[in-house]
Amino acid sequence: MTDQGSSFVATRNACKMCTPLGACLAFSGVEGCLPFLHGSQGCSTYIRRYLISHFREPMDIASSNFDEQSAIFGGQNNLSIGLRHVLESYRPKAVGIATTCLSETIGDDVSMFLNEFRNEQAGNADVSIPPLIHASTPSYHGSHFDGYTEAVAAIVDTLAEGGKRQADLVNILPGIVSPADLRHLREIVSDFGLTPVLTPDYSERLDGPPWQQYQRIPDGGTPIDMIRRCGTAAASIQLGDTPTGRTAAGILADKFDVPAMVLPMPIGVRASDQMFAALENISGRPTPKQHADERGRLVDSYIDAHKYIFGKCAIVFGDEDFVVSTVGFLAEIGIQTVLCGSGGQSGTLKASIDQIEMGPSEPPRVIEGVDFEDLTEAADDVHADLMIGHSKGYKLARQLGIPLVRIGLPVHDRFGASRLLHVGYRGTQQLFDRIVNTLLEQRQDISEMGYTYL
Ligand code: SF4
Repeated sequence: MTDQGSSFVATRNACKMCTPLGACLAFSGVEGCLPFLHGSQGCSTYIRRYLISHFREPMDIASSNFDEQSAIFGGQNNLSIGLRHVLESYRPKAVGIATTCLSETIGDDVSMFLNEFRNEQAGNADVSIPPLIHASTPSYHGSHFDGYTEAVAAIVDTLAEGGKRQADLVNILPGIVSPADLRHLREIVSDFGLTPVLTPDYSERLDGPPWQQYQRIPDGGTPIDMIRRCGTAAASIQLGDTPTGRTAAGILADKFDVPAMVLPMPIGVRASDQMFAALENISGRPTPKQHADERGRLVDSYIDAHKYIFGKCAIVFGDEDFVVSTVGFLAEIGIQTVLCGSGGQSGTLKASIDQIEMGPSEPPRVIEGVDFEDLTEAADDVHADLMIGHSKGYKLARQLGIPLVRIGLPVHDRFGASRLLHVGYRGTQQLFDRIVNTLLEQRQDISEMGYTYL
């Protein structure tokens, strides 16, 4: 056994998920696209199981199904057989190929394999080759968020084309949000008279109606024709400003001169204001009345609930974009974040948190690249009234005896994760109400008097 040295610490109860999981999620948001993992079958089984527990919808992920031979001699043959099989049986409009730890470790040159596959099949009349989108996603380097970002970049890099600028077309690159968030973003952009190219859009595929008959690739997803038009858009709005590596907005700016606006995830009034201001700017129209009214009601509710929440303390964790925007939102409602952490390691989390206007509160302790053992140790040094993050934090919340408000991914110990709305004034309102009611419920539970007027 190799001596790892005294500084080696394995990850324990990770505060992130595996990198190709994020890529599979992104590929599910493209119309007719089949996610395909180049690696072991167990990886696709784990990812399917994990995503189904959050979205509660069927999820097919193909695999090149490595065995001992492919692990030693390379997986080109497996990839070729697997692709042929899925093209014949699924007839996908695109295949999104993500690599697993094993194929990355042995150094498979997937781009070359795909080129050779295209050449081999060129004369085969029985198989038509759709776009093959390749994302390199080694899970020992990065998180599900990095895999998602890389896959969205690969989708745009493979499919987008240039052309005459379309003044009403705007690319929305939403980050990992819920199907309800995706639907709401589409609604907001359309209300400005703009046509959104929302990439990816898994809102229908991962939160759709029941079927009469099983669909191998469910309906929904961003139409491939629309993604092809991305290079002609008036602008790209990327929600979330902590991605590492290449981004879709960056690729569209470099290849087609599409102006990129990088904004925080629109949670909270200030962050949502930035997104609405960008849309006003692109469309030349003021914010539509229904959204201005939602903003007004949200601000009014901040005033109404102030006495219940002011001065409370929170621990926030999850994807870096969610953490940054949630901390900013808590600061504007008077809840002090005492500790925040993410399994992501963009290296920008602390700098992003430092830019938030905290008012009279001390800035929180920020820890990047954490697992839940790190968070548990750090939580010993702070007092918190609640935790805000995904379901993996439940054990710690239970240990601390404080409630957990579930946001982001995964939420697999509660029902309705797909319909949790987080973004815009409406999403912030729902999140705000949940936080206030969680604190009221906690207070009521420990009160000797029980029920009373609040
Ligand atoms: S081996 Fe790597 S890619 Fe496969 S499930 Fe585990 S972390 Fe994910």
